[in-house]
Amino acid sequence: MNINIRQARDEVVKCGKTIHESALVVGTWGNISVRIPDSEYVAITPSGVDYQKTDAESIVIVDLDGNIIDGELKPSIEINLHLAIYRARTDVNAIIHTHSTFCTSYAIARKEIPAAAEDLAQIVGGNVRVTDYCLPGTIELGREAVEKLGNRNAVLLSNHGLLAAAKSLNEALKVAQVVEKAAQSSLMAQLIGGAVVLSDDDINSMREFYLNKYGQK
Ligand SMILES: [Zn+2]
Repeated sequence: MNINIRQARDEVVKCGKTIHESALVVGTWGNISVRIPDSEYVAITPSGVDYQKTDAESIVIVDLDGNIIDGELKPSIEINLHLAIYRARTDVNAIIHTHSTFCTSYAIARKEIPAAAEDLAQIVGGNVRVTDYCLPGTIELGREAVEKLGNRNAVLLSNHGLLAAAKSLNEALKVAQVVEKAAQSSLMAQLIGGAVVLSDDDINSMREFYLNKYGQK
């Protein structure tokens, strides 16, 4: 098995343990995938296996049409959702889907998370939109998520949870954590008069800074 596939499987396993420990997911809910470099393949978590029990061999390798290339287990039920995003967004190399508490609060209220916190604006590129309701695992959910995600890095799935998409798994993890924190902060802000949304100009300039100038380049 080629080295990129091996590394992708290890990366997904490690990320699964991290999101489980950081309480972004409960039980076996949520799923993770990563694009395998220089290939048309994706490594995705299996359906219904505990994160603590998931090892490299349980990670399923699929092509962009969902055909299983390698692996004994069934891939995540949300495979259509992940693949729809990879097909639509060539800049996305990693996806984390969680049912974290505060994101799910917005998702069940079918309310967008406002672009009020600066870190959210930088890492997502604006507010976190919410899809129309679609049953889990369906092609329609994938289509809806692609549409509402647009060119951003996160989208809420109605009555369900969060999808974070980014150029790497580390970045997707950061997106999932920042959006969860923003959801919590926005909810708390409601108690003291409501969050003040940033202007489009300010969002765009912070986004530009984050993408091109932030950190050690
Ligand atoms: Zn889910």
